[in-house]
Amino acid sequence: MAVVLGCIADDFTGATDLAGLLARSGVKVSLRMGVPDEAPETADTAAFEVIALKCRTIPVADAVAETRAALDWLKRAGAQRFFWKYCSTFDSTAEGNIGPVAEALMADLGASQTMYCPAFPENGRAIFMGNLFVGELPLAESPMKDHPLTPMRDSNLMRLIAPQVTGKVGLANRLTVARGAEALKQRLSDLEAEGVAHVVIDAVADEDLQVIAEACQKMPLMTGGSAVAMPLPGIYLREGAITESAKRAAPPEIGKGAIVLSGSCSAMTRAQVADYLPKAASYKLDPLELAANGAQAARDWLAAQDPDAAKIVYATAEPEDVAKVQAELGVAQAGELVEAALAQLATDALDLGVRRFVVAGGETSGAVTKALGVTAMTIGDEIAPGVPWTWCESKGEQIAMTLKSGNFGSVAFFTEAFAKLDAMS
Ligand code: ADP
Repeated sequence: MAVVLGCIADDFTGATDLAGLLARSGVKVSLRMGVPDEAPETADTAAFEVIALKCRTIPVADAVAETRAALDWLKRAGAQRFFWKYCSTFDSTAEGNIGPVAEALMADLGASQTMYCPAFPENGRAIFMGNLFVGELPLAESPMKDHPLTPMRDSNLMRLIAPQVTGKVGLANRLTVARGAEALKQRLSDLEAEGVAHVVIDAVADEDLQVIAEACQKMPLMTGGSAVAMPLPGIYLREGAITESAKRAAPPEIGKGAIVLSGSCSAMTRAQVADYLPKAASYKLDPLELAANGAQAARDWLAAQDPDAAKIVYATAEPEDVAKVQAELGVAQAGELVEAALAQLATDALDLGVRRFVVAGGETSGAVTKALGVTAMTIGDEIAPGVPWTWCESKGEQIAMTLKSGNFGSVAFFTEAFAKLDAMS
């Protein structure tokens, strides 16, 4: 199918967040890890394509080059409207990369104006009079002020954008948004007449996002967090930019074999692992043991399991145990040992006949997808907010995979995930 909306996200979990929100409407959404090597083929693309990059904190010139390559692929796939997705806390520095990328994409698209709306009211991110709030705190008073790579020391989005771009920056405030899409469109064109290329738009509630999406849907380039894109599929369906055929088909047949691989030590994952242990066969990875003897014992354990039975391999541990291991091995080496072991076990599991993978941990997810050779995913139903099932191909096999970052999901997430998959097939 020809692509209607081409999205570029500046990091991996941001991309899955956006893909999940777009897919809530029932449309087919495809997520690619990086710019695909192959040229786009209509038989293979969805109406909504999301390309996940890792360019939030890389040098500006590299971020511009990567996003332009992604734009080019999406254009060749037929997309005419584009969305540049960044974090809802506007993670960037005075150099970039949000503004320079937006300006480069605008230049490639011949767009004279774009909008900025990182608001995500459901997650406590709101913009009022151009100032971004995290819950009730201005951004610069939130924990983001101490972020190691992108400390956010100003809450005013116009002041944050201005040093990142060459064009003029302006605001369409909440009072305009509250008057509806026509009023907002008028404000945007008035600003355009004044030469304002970069417009911050206030949003404090979901209704605002609906108004903004309606007013901006025909812009060649929209930019924002994931939430302002959520209304777009519904608007496109209503306006005929896409038809019912853009909806996703029933999920493919997926073999029964299942496994949970958990390398996350976040509080929620620890509770989820504890909840699942009495329900499944389990193997606990010990990083010290991995350092001394490798992953063979774990691989032998896995090889002896029934592929279809519930099972979990986990390195998930309490903070004091993690600290002990890190003191002995170093933080990076401990992490790498666990990631390499889980990646190896994922490919072993595939060979054993496992086709349903639940992976816990952001870094862990990166290692496992890479090992399984997954480069594209079709987004399915959400198990928990921000955590959908996805369908992908690994070494010629159809698999279902869900990637859960640390604190997402409820305590019974692993059980719920497999139950959801059973209900879908
Ligand atoms: P999260 O999404 O919860 O942050 P990640 O997978 O991104 O999870 O990060 C967890 C990191 O901790 C990974 O690099 C993983 O390999 C490492 N790790 C997991 N278990 C242990 C452990 N028991 N000791 C030390 N490091 C661990």
